[in-house]
Amino acid sequence: MFIVLRPKTLRIAELRKMQHMVANKLLYYHREDCRLCRSKNLIKVLDLGEQPLAGGFLDQNEFQDEKFFPLRLYFCKDCTLIQNSEIIDKEVLFKHYFYISSASKTGVDHFKSYAEDLNTCFARKKGDNLFIVELGSNDGVLLLPLREFGHNVLGVEPSKNITEIARKKGLAIINDFFTQEVAREIVDKHSKADIITANNVLAHIDDMEEVIKGILILLKPEGILVFEVHYLLDLIEKLQYDAIYHEHFCYHSVIALSKFFEKWDMNIYKVQRVPMHEGSIRVYVKRKENLGRLQEKSVQELIRIERDKQLDNEQTFYGFTQRINKQKEMLNSAIQQIKQKGERIVGYGAAGRANTLLNYCNITYEMIDYIVDASPLRQGKYTPGTHIPIFSIEKFREDNPENVLLLAWSYKKEILEKEYDYRKKGGKFVIPLPMVEII
Ligand code: SAM
Repeated sequence: MFIVLRPKTLRIAELRKMQHMVANKLLYYHREDCRLCRSKNLIKVLDLGEQPLAGGFLDQNEFQDEKFFPLRLYFCKDCTLIQNSEIIDKEVLFKHYFYISSASKTGVDHFKSYAEDLNTCFARKKGDNLFIVELGSNDGVLLLPLREFGHNVLGVEPSKNITEIARKKGLAIINDFFTQEVAREIVDKHSKADIITANNVLAHIDDMEEVIKGILILLKPEGILVFEVHYLLDLIEKLQYDAIYHEHFCYHSVIALSKFFEKWDMNIYKVQRVPMHEGSIRVYVKRKENLGRLQEKSVQELIRIERDKQLDNEQTFYGFTQRINKQKEMLNSAIQQIKQKGERIVGYGAAGRANTLLNYCNITYEMIDYIVDASPLRQGKYTPGTHIPIFSIEKFREDNPENVLLLAWSYKKEILEKEYDYRKKGGKFVIPLPMVEII
């Protein structure tokens, strides 16, 4: 079990937190400094209350011991990073994981085209054989298409259950968290990497210093780090508060990322906005000394847009809370109206994002009959906090309820196409975000 150590003299506020932790047998601590620049100049800008772990799917006999943790965001007044400072032990978050990257066609297609892009950009001639290491490789959604281009690929993935899935596909995976030690092991056993990729994982790491030091050990001097992260600008503009949960420690902007890499003598030389997860950025980074004339306009352009939209001003995030509360009211009222008509409503997609939304909006098993989800890992379980049972998609198709709350709204296009027959028969989808609509 994770033990919380508080070596220095405790202030009263800290003592209270400790008492709370002991009473709730919590497995977390509050971090006081900024994860990227180490400044202590942090200010709370959003409070989503006490929430369970978004990936904490349960069996019925586990309801009683369920744990809740404060979910708050802080703004760093020095580097502008938005972050969650309540640190849950990484073993708890990732050793057994419920998200499989290849579960959606959107994901598989996205990573296939990502692999094509990497191959076109960096394999200088046909058949060029690059050594590519992916951090947080999950079930191999990107490694597989990269391997098909003939590259040597290696994944680093801490979750045991997902590593097994990837290994069954014949992929080489180190089943561990990425650290300096893992980086050294890879260099000793293989070589330094031409490319390191890390997608939707840098936001999931608290100790970014350890990771960047590991990257500097593993990457060839002229090597490239390419990663994707959910983009703060899209999160704010599309009201994606459902993407806020304990697993997500950072909410990235180009401004904050640029400052971070500069500190480590690296430079972002190109950024692309990509549609994945309703708005992400793909970021290309090299060591400063080997950058040459690579620097693209895209970096400065996005920094300018972020400044225009005031992502570097904490006031922007206070306004966000008001917009969230309005959406919560609207969603509850839409569900109430459905219930008053005597109609049923079930949920579609029980991912982590669904859990923040359900918990924050107090939508429980009393309002939603059940949720269907494509992942066999979640079927048969209950949603954290709200205790809604999860079944396979077939149940909803057989049952044909009048309404479906599309919790996986960021896969709207794919799901509406897949469930064309349901809508044709008169079924309605309630879309919760970016604004409540019924279609
Ligand atoms: N890269 C995949 C994608 O984009 O679909 C998976 C993203 S998933 C949200 C995050 C993945 O990072 C999980 O598979 C998780 O186990 C892994 N992960 C978390 N912390 C990590 C760490 N310190 N080092 C390497 N992988 C990590």
